[in-house]
Amino acid sequence: MRHLPIVRPRHPTATQLLPQLQGILNSGQVTNNGPYVQQFEKSLTDLLGVPTIVFSSGMAAMIAMLRAVDVAGGEVICPSFTFCATPHAIVMAGATPVFADIDAETLTLDIYGVARSMTKQTRAVLGVDPYGICWEPPPLIDGGNVSVLIDSAPAFGSEIGDWHAAGRGDAQIFSFHATKPFSTMEGGALCSRDPLLIKRAQEIRNFGQSDDGDCRFVGFNGKMLEVCALIGLKQLEDWQHRVPRRVESAIRLRDALKDIPGLRVQRAPLGQSPVWLYQPVFIEPEFGRDRDSVMRELAAAGIQTRPYYRACHLLGCYVDKYTYLPVTERLSAQVISLPVYDNMADDEIAQIADAFKEIRACVS
Ligand SMILES: *Cc1c(COP(=O)(O)O)cnc(C)c1O
Repeated sequence: MRHLPIVRPRHPTATQLLPQLQGILNSGQVTNNGPYVQQFEKSLTDLLGVPTIVFSSGMAAMIAMLRAVDVAGGEVICPSFTFCATPHAIVMAGATPVFADIDAETLTLDIYGVARSMTKQTRAVLGVDPYGICWEPPPLIDGGNVSVLIDSAPAFGSEIGDWHAAGRGDAQIFSFHATKPFSTMEGGALCSRDPLLIKRAQEIRNFGQSDDGDCRFVGFNGKMLEVCALIGLKQLEDWQHRVPRRVESAIRLRDALKDIPGLRVQRAPLGQSPVWLYQPVFIEPEFGRDRDSVMRELAAAGIQTRPYYRACHLLGCYVDKYTYLPVTERLSAQVISLPVYDNMADDEIAQIADAFKEIRACVS
C-alpha cells in the first residue's frame, strides 16, 4: 500500500538553485524589490496578460488588495465555503465579512445571495475560486462604489476557454504557498488592470510608504524574498507543461470514481479548466456512511484527505445565531478533498477508487 499525501510539492533541487542563490547572498540584496522579484513580476505579467505584483503570501496580497480599495469601516461580502484566510483578510483590512451562500453546481459565490446581502455599508464583494474553479462575476454587480475582488489563491493555472483566468473583477490574488500547485514555498501575487490600485498595493506592501517617503495609507510588510522569486522563476520554466498533466490526472481520477452510488464527484463548470488544488467529492446519504468515517477509512488505506472547505460562518470567531447558509452547511458537511498530483500514476488512482468501493461494499 502506497502512502498518498494530500499534496506532493514540487520544488527545484538545491543544485539547480545554488549558483543563483549564491549570487543573491553575495550581492547582499536578499529582499526589498530586488532583481529576481522584478523579473518574476515581469514574467507573471507576460504570462497572465495583466499587470502583476508579488507578495510574501497570498493572504498578504489579499489584505493589500482589500486595503487598496479602502474597505475599512465597511462590509465585504464573501462566501463562507472557503479557506479561513478569506474572511480573516477582510477583518485584517478593517472591514466586516458578510457571508453569502454558494451555488451548489459551481461551489462559487451565488449571485442571488450576494444581492440579498448588499447594504449601504457594502464596499466590496470578494469572490473565491474554490479548488481552482473560477468564479465568473456577472457584470450586474455594480451598486456604485462596490469593488469586485477575487481570492484566486488556489487558481493559478486555471483557464477559462483559452484564457488564463486572470484579470477578472477589479483585482485578483493568487497564492504560491507550498500546498498550492505552483509553489514559491511562501508567496502570493496580485493582478489588476487598474494602475492606481496596483500603485496603492505596492505602497501598502512596503509599510504604506510612497516614493516621496510619505505614508498616504497604513501599510505592512508584505514583500517577497529574492530566494522565493528565484524559485518562482524556476517553477515557471516547466509550468506550462505541468498544468495539462495535472488537469489530466484529475480527469482520470474523476473517471475512476464516477459510478459509485452516493459519491458525487465535482466537475468543472462548462468552458473552464480548473487547476484542481484538490478534487472535491461529496458523500451523499445514499453512500450509507458519514463523511468523517469515510475519511478515517481512507486514511487507513493510505490516502490522506481533508474536510475542505469548512463553513467559515460556523468557525468560533464568526459564528452567530442568525446566519443560515443551507447550501454551504450541507456541502461542507459532505465534502472530502482528495489529492491531485501533476502526474498521478494509474495505480495511485486505482488505490483511491478501490478504497471508496471497499468502504461502500462494507455498508451493503
Ligand atoms: C491557500 C489559500 C489562501 C492563503 O494563501 P497563503 O499564500 O497561504 O497565504 C487564501 N484563500 C484560499 C481560498 C486559499 O486556498
